[in-house]
Amino acid sequence: MLNIVIFGPPGSGKGTQSENLIKKYELEHISTGDLLRHEIETNTQLGALAKKHMDKGELVPDEVIIGMIDSFLDKNIGKVKGVIFDGFPRTVAQAEALKSLLSSYKTDVSVMLNLEVPDAELLTRLIERGKTSGRSDDNEETIKKRISVYNAQTKPVIDFYKKDGKLANIKGVGAIDAIFAEICKAVDAVK
Ligand code: ADP
Repeated sequence: MLNIVIFGPPGSGKGTQSENLIKKYELEHISTGDLLRHEIETNTQLGALAKKHMDKGELVPDEVIIGMIDSFLDKNIGKVKGVIFDGFPRTVAQAEALKSLLSSYKTDVSVMLNLEVPDAELLTRLIERGKTSGRSDDNEETIKKRISVYNAQTKPVIDFYKKDGKLANIKGVGAIDAIFAEICKAVDAVK
């Protein structure tokens, strides 16, 4: 399988580049943020719990997220060529859980694409996106909190994949097509 983790701070372009990857490599896409927003829209218990964290810019507890990934893999492995994980893993505990879940299916992460974008650029992009996204967490205060949560809790995941030999750093500033070309080089190298 071709399993790609697309990684980077909020506003780094994970969603945009995931769409490009899905088309080119015919992969199944899982965005934990989209799944959580769907839970909120459909008024589930999980959605209510998630919303409390998301509106504050904090992470949703690991066990909730890992449970979602577990059932996603259960439904999809064996039926798809590979998976793009978007917005997951966001903690080292999640990265460890993903490794062990995938190994139970005799597979692993192929590459981790780390989109690098400076904090100041993220803030500008997300404030701009907030004007049209309708997302309750795209306001300046929550955006700043999400960036600081990223730096404190999520960044260590880079080291996890570096040690695992899966890290590919991608400069996430510039034209979307040029960034995608760099991404494709990294993916083709492990394909
Ligand atoms: P962004 O990358 O722009 O922050 P996401 O849609 O990926 O947007 O995530 C939105 C929010 O959903 C996060 O701030 C967090 O509260 C929650 N969330 C999404 N994925 C995870 C995850 N893997 N672990 C914990 N919380 C998550």
